[in-house]
Amino acid sequence: MNYQSFFEGAVSALKDEKRYRVFADLERVVGRFPHAIHRRDGEERDVTIWCSNDYLGMGQNNHVISAFCDAAQGMGAGAGGTRNISGTNHPLVELENELCDLHNKEAALVFTSGFVSNEAAISTIAKLLPDCLILSDQLNHASMIAGIRNSGAQKQVWRHNDMEHLEELLKAAGPERAKLIVFESVYSMDGDIAPIEQIADLADKYNALTYIDEVHAVGMYGPRGAGICERDGVMDRIDIIEGTMAKAYGVLGGYITASAAIVDAVRSYAPGFIFTTALPPALARAAATSIRYLKESNAEREGQQRQAQRAKDVFSAAGLPVLPSETHIVPVLVCDPDLCKQASDILLDEYGIYIQPINYPTVPRGTERLRITPTPFHDDQLIDTLRDALVEIWDRLDLPKVEPGAFVEVDAMADRMAAKLQVFPAAGG
Ligand SMILES: *Cc1c(COP(=O)(O)O)cnc(C)c1O
Repeated sequence: MNYQSFFEGAVSALKDEKRYRVFADLERVVGRFPHAIHRRDGEERDVTIWCSNDYLGMGQNNHVISAFCDAAQGMGAGAGGTRNISGTNHPLVELENELCDLHNKEAALVFTSGFVSNEAAISTIAKLLPDCLILSDQLNHASMIAGIRNSGAQKQVWRHNDMEHLEELLKAAGPERAKLIVFESVYSMDGDIAPIEQIADLADKYNALTYIDEVHAVGMYGPRGAGICERDGVMDRIDIIEGTMAKAYGVLGGYITASAAIVDAVRSYAPGFIFTTALPPALARAAATSIRYLKESNAEREGQQRQAQRAKDVFSAAGLPVLPSETHIVPVLVCDPDLCKQASDILLDEYGIYIQPINYPTVPRGTERLRITPTPFHDDQLIDTLRDALVEIWDRLDLPKVEPGAFVEVDAMADRMAAKLQVFPAAGG
């Protein structure tokens, strides 16, 4: 076997499908968010980032940066060990207390990322429960799917946000069997929200445990930024709440909060928690500072909601196919991987606007899109500039537009694009 050519073949298969990933080399500059320096082929250019998950610009917040620097100066760069063997630094303990308070739960546990928190917590909880059945929303994130797989438990997928389907599966499993319902609050690619209260009602009715991923909601929703569960007054009805410090909080690290018994079990049994070095003190301090700041300050949340709404209104008024997102996420559908990449390339090359194309497997094939994330720092002028660029590119690539002001449905748009590409197969290049 020729190993090198095997791997080259694996990569060229992605290139053939037009979903080979190219990373943008960026240097963010404090005080200039969402502008950054983009480097390519020895050249430097100013770009506007329109796809960052630093949703509120907290990665450049002065309090957060100071906390980070002070802790690194005082306590050093690394944690020096796993949680069990000398790595449990005091800022990390304080961070976990902060998270308990945020979600009003008995206990919290911090992991090195949100991905790790989902993988470790879901796999451990489902493995510990005898004959556990996992009920998983169709659009759950890759990290949750990794946790489900690694648990070895049986899994059933319910159609996205479909409560009748979930109830059918719960009913069939019966009240005696251990059941874990895993889902997200804000789905990050469509920008829609789960019916959390109804899921909690069903969990009560059929005696199931509930696990929610609030990664795209913490910091941004609820009066103290604890997420959609806080906003909807249902935090106490969900057993395990998972979140990240890497998105709206602008730093790094993931966590779960739950009852003391559940958290202690994950702490004691999860390999992904036990056998890895703890988060360093500077990161823990910076994350706790960000959480504390956003408990008090609503200005960032309000600014984000205002600019996201304006972006949706302005793009859809221009006839661009915007999904009817209920959140800060603004998906504009292209529904073809090659055209999606072409649109993204033109934005970067000709307009200095950076929006990474979103292709399979992040979204289903045929639903490729530009996922736009306005922050409080994307002002009206930047939104209008982006709209003008998108309209010009939509015309140039002959992408389908919709009636001005109308929002679109994923399936209808995917069908329309598939039909169009069938009639004009050359359009895909
Ligand atoms: C980004 C993401 C994660 C992982 O969080 P990280 O802290 O970036 O590892 C988990 N769940 C969802 C839904 C995400 O989008």
